[in-house]
Amino acid sequence: MTIALPMLLERTEALPGGSEKLQSTDVHGELVDGFDRHIEDLRISITDRCNFRCTYCMPEEGLQWLKSDIVLTFPEIVRLARIGVDLGIREIRLTGGEPTLRPGLPSLIRELSRIPALESLSLTTNGFLLRRLAGDLAEAGLTRINVSLDTLQHDKFHQITRRPFLDQVLAGLEELERHPTIRPIKVNAVAMRDFTEEDVVAFARLARRKPYVIRFIEFMPLDADGNWERERVLSGREIKAIIERDFMPLVPVPGQNPSSTSRLYRFPDGIGEIGFINPVSEPFCATCNRIRLTADGQIRTCLFSIEEHDLRRPMRAGATDQELADIFLRAVAHKEKKHRINEGEQFQRASRSMSQIGG
Ligand code: SF4
Repeated sequence: MTIALPMLLERTEALPGGSEKLQSTDVHGELVDGFDRHIEDLRISITDRCNFRCTYCMPEEGLQWLKSDIVLTFPEIVRLARIGVDLGIREIRLTGGEPTLRPGLPSLIRELSRIPALESLSLTTNGFLLRRLAGDLAEAGLTRINVSLDTLQHDKFHQITRRPFLDQVLAGLEELERHPTIRPIKVNAVAMRDFTEEDVVAFARLARRKPYVIRFIEFMPLDADGNWERERVLSGREIKAIIERDFMPLVPVPGQNPSSTSRLYRFPDGIGEIGFINPVSEPFCATCNRIRLTADGQIRTCLFSIEEHDLRRPMRAGATDQELADIFLRAVAHKEKKHRINEGEQFQRASRSMSQIGG
C-alpha cells in the first residue's frame, strides 16, 4: 500500500552556512514568568504536516494544512531561535507535525547548532524517514532525539497510526544506534488503557536490549477529534506496577533535573532505563520551563494555551531583534500557571491540536 507523503513546497531555505559560531544578537531581557519559572526550553514546530494519522492526534483524512506562505522559513526560524537563546533558552527541540518531512532539515539543524549558548538540540519524530536521515542529522549537529512509537506489534501499530510502517520505524532506530553523537535515544509511547498494557513488558525488554530510554506518556486531551476520555488514561503509576509485577522492580535514577517532564527509573542491575511522563495524574507545571513556537510563527506559552503571541507578522513587517524579543518577554510574563485537565469545567481545550503545536 503506497501512502503519498504530504510533500512540502520547496521553499528558498537559503541559509548562510559555515561552521563558525553565530554572533549573539544584542537583545536584552530574561525569560522568567510570573511564577518565577525560568524558561530555557523552546519547542519549535517546523511543519504541521505528517505522514501518519495517529488516532490520538488527527483524523484519518488529515487536517487543513497551513498555507506554505505563512510557514516560517529556515532563516526566520534561526533568527527567532537566536533571539530566544539570548533571552535564556538553552534547549531547542524541533517538532511538527512530522519535522523530517521538511526538505533540508539537516541544514536547519546545522545552522541552529552554530548558536553559541545553545546546550541541546533535539528532534521529535515518528521515525519513518530516520533510516535515510540519521547520518545527515548526526553530521549536522543533532544531539538528542525522541522517536514516537506506541506499540511493538504490527497490527496495533497499524491500528493506532493508520499506517503499516512499524518495520521502517524500528529500522530507523537501529540506524540511530550507529550514530553515538545522538544520545540519548528516547522512545516515547503514548499510554492508553486497553491498548498499552500488553506492550508494557515488551517495551521493558526493549529498554534492556537496546540503547533506548523508553518513556510512557499519559494520554492528553490534545486530539483534533476531541475524543479524549479520562477513563482511557493509563497512568504512569499503573504502568510501573505492571513492570514490577510482570517483569522486574524499578529503582529511581538519582539526581534528576527537576524541570524534566519524565521521572526516570532503572532496573536493579542498571541495564535499561524507563521514564514516566504523567501530565494528567502527576502534573509537573510547577517546574515548567517550556514555551513553543508554531510553524506559522506564534508563541504558545503552554501546551494548553488558548491565546497565542504573533511573531511572524511583526518580523515580516521589519521589527528589530529587540522588538521581537519584547514579544517573547511579554508572552512569557503572561505564561499560564498550569493546565486545568483535572479541574472539571475549568478545563478548556487547547486552541490547536497536538499536530499543530508539536508536543
Ligand atoms: S501543561 Fe503547560 S504549564 Fe503544564 S507543563 Fe505543560 S506546558 Fe507547562
